[in-house]
Amino acid sequence: MRLGMIVKFINEEDINQIKRARDLGFESCQLDGWNPDLWTDEMAEKLKAELVKYNVSISAFWCGWTGPAVWNIEFGPETVGLVPEVYRHKRIEEFKRGSDFAKKLGVKQFVTHVGFIPEEPHRREYKSLIIAIREVALHCKQNGQYFMFETGEETPLTLLRTIEDVGTDNLGVNLDPANLICYGKGNPIDALELLGKYVREVHAKDFCHPVNGQSVGVEVPIGEGNVNFPAFFKKLKEIGYDGTITIEREITGEQQTKDVLAAKDYLTELWNNV
Ligand code: MG
Repeated sequence: MRLGMIVKFINEEDINQIKRARDLGFESCQLDGWNPDLWTDEMAEKLKAELVKYNVSISAFWCGWTGPAVWNIEFGPETVGLVPEVYRHKRIEEFKRGSDFAKKLGVKQFVTHVGFIPEEPHRREYKSLIIAIREVALHCKQNGQYFMFETGEETPLTLLRTIEDVGTDNLGVNLDPANLICYGKGNPIDALELLGKYVREVHAKDFCHPVNGQSVGVEVPIGEGNVNFPAFFKKLKEIGYDGTITIEREITGEQQTKDVLAAKDYLTELWNNV
């Protein structure tokens, strides 16, 4: 099992995060890009030099976007990913640029949140979303990449239907078990049952269940929340998952480093014993 960590790439100085990944003992990362201004030829060359220098590889490029992203139930549907029509055109272009940047880095997996996918397949909003996703997925295909959906803002069944309806042959899933808990959209082990054959990347992150119908869950250090990691890993082994498991901890500073290192030990031990 290969462990990786998320490397934020939002400012120019974040290039130093490649060294940080190596210092923390990781050979793999997902590059988390939210600033299209950085997706230049020059920056790709600089990054490639760092990757070689520190012997770190990028398993996937996580492509963010400009404009708002509110990670809750109230405003998520109108701000996240390609779902909100008001930002859609701009974000399709940004995703294509992100895919092009990933190609320059030699990265073959593009990941994003497409948003809170409508549940009802007959709705106009769903049908137009499928067309938008297909446009980006085909661009990724031209770049020799998989287009991958990060889970959580839709039920696993809705995601399965979306994958089938987009219908290109380069679609995959970045399964984040904690997101399913966070938004109350499903159980990570059941999600593997439905989506298993599409899962090409996995995030390790932990959340507690929401405590009322208006809020989302709260993030906690890995092993302390409601993701049942022993059962989740067992199921990953059962379906023959052989990709990377990328640790994600959505805080910053000293505590993040501590939690990432603790998660690394915990997950390594667990993987070897389930
Ligand atoms: Mg994630």
